[in-house]
Amino acid sequence: MLPLKEKDKPIIQKLLSAGCCVRCVLRFCCVSVQAAYRKPHQDTLKELKAFINNTENSKSQESAEENSKSHDAAVPDPTEDPPSKRAKLEPSETGCLPEDDTAAAAVVKLKDEESSVCVVCLGILQELCGLTQAVKIAEKVKAEKYEFDTLVLSVSLPAQLCVREHSCWLHVKKELREKSMAVDKDDVIQVKEAFKWIMQGQVAKELGGVAVVTRSFFEVGVEFTHPETDADCHFLATTCADCFKPTKNKQSVFTRMAVVKALEKIDDAKFLKHYPCPPAQPSSSCISQDVQCLHVSVFVAGRYNKFCRSLPQTPWVIDGERRMESSVEELIAAPILSAFRADGFNFSSSGREDVDVRTLGNGRPFAMELLNPHRSRFSKVEMKQLQETINKSSDKIRVRDLQIVTREAMSRMKEGEEEKTKSYTALVWTQKPIQSEDIAFIDDIKDLTLDQKTPLRVLHRRALAVRQRVVHSMTTRFLDSHHFYLGLKTQAGTYIKEFVHGDFGRTKPNLCQLLKTDTDILELDVESVDVDWPPPIPE
Ligand code: ZN
Repeated sequence: MLPLKEKDKPIIQKLLSAGCCVRCVLRFCCVSVQAAYRKPHQDTLKELKAFINNTENSKSQESAEENSKSHDAAVPDPTEDPPSKRAKLEPSETGCLPEDDTAAAAVVKLKDEESSVCVVCLGILQELCGLTQAVKIAEKVKAEKYEFDTLVLSVSLPAQLCVREHSCWLHVKKELREKSMAVDKDDVIQVKEAFKWIMQGQVAKELGGVAVVTRSFFEVGVEFTHPETDADCHFLATTCADCFKPTKNKQSVFTRMAVVKALEKIDDAKFLKHYPCPPAQPSSSCISQDVQCLHVSVFVAGRYNKFCRSLPQTPWVIDGERRMESSVEELIAAPILSAFRADGFNFSSSGREDVDVRTLGNGRPFAMELLNPHRSRFSKVEMKQLQETINKSSDKIRVRDLQIVTREAMSRMKEGEEEKTKSYTALVWTQKPIQSEDIAFIDDIKDLTLDQKTPLRVLHRRALAVRQRVVHSMTTRFLDSHHFYLGLKTQAGTYIKEFVHGDFGRTKPNLCQLLKTDTDILELDVESVDVDWPPPIPE
């Protein structure tokens, strides 16, 4: 038995004759019993008709009154048929049926009720939510070989559905008003809801019993379009112009959100002036677009070493032309991307080194967001194997502590980055010949504050500014009369090259000033990046 009440009777009549499918009828009767929507169309139709007839037989007088009220002017002569028969065989109010041939029309209508496209849901709650659709969704999910425990079904509907829903709602409201019944549009079950109630179980079954839930990392999206009625929304652009502002990314201004907003604003009289109530009969159902699968991003972190002085961190492209054949990012990402079968990635790291700078020691923390990964579960052993694959693929880089992390944890890498310290080794050239005693005093310098104007070499991409950085300590190792190694422990973000050569006086103090001779930097290595994230993984 359908959970219907006496008050639903005129609504059912009115909606069926307006060309609504039985499931839309249930929606407008605010039936929230999910199972009711899963019954076969035919059974529900039979039940609805029996419900109306039964009621009418028992209260035939009242029913006749209501009938004549609800039919407005569309039915020519209420005395022509007995009320009980008429309720069942009612010609379409919207339709093209000749008014003078009610009996013949009624026969046609009976067939139509079962086959014609619903004026509100445009077929979505009819044949578009059956087994065929469930199989289509399941086939797509299987074909993409996603790894998942649960899935969430999402539905994208054509925006004009809201207009049709509104029109139908006004149609129902008119009826209810006449009976002085309180009504609330929010109680009407949404097409999306009903679709999910019907489809979730079927999709779950087709996928061998996977749970279809309301929140999941894996989303399967079904999209419907209905080009035939796209113009349904257009009148709103003139009546509620401010709701339809062109946006950069959207193809059409008639987004679902804009249409909903406009419908909230427009008053009933104005709406009814521009749009038929109930909505006109469409000739075709919605078109079901390709099923879209999307897994939420997975985040992977680790530390990398870079052993090569001709490898940029990210692809180096100038004027559309590639300057170096590879990059740290690509060497790390390629094996990870293929293991996770992801569509793309975003790479970030705790600072970055120049193309000619090596990163030694424990390496530099990095993290990667993997977009739409088809595989997302990796054991510790598998992550270790993946790390080995990366390390075997190139001798220019090496990765350690590779692990899956959360999006939240990833922000730890960027947090307080400026306060962290970094250690470097620079190979320094001096113009004047030196002896080891000449440079020994440098070892005693502690917490030297530098004023660094934005270096000339990065001025094309960074604003001109002066920033202060601290060199916490330095150590020297004499090499020959023109060369020594300078070890530095500095605040993150210090421009080391500029501290050594002075950058034409843009960094003060600088090593030239300290040594009273021209100095230059020949090689630079990052020895350590003191960020305690990601956590180390024992070998
Ligand atoms: Zn419908």
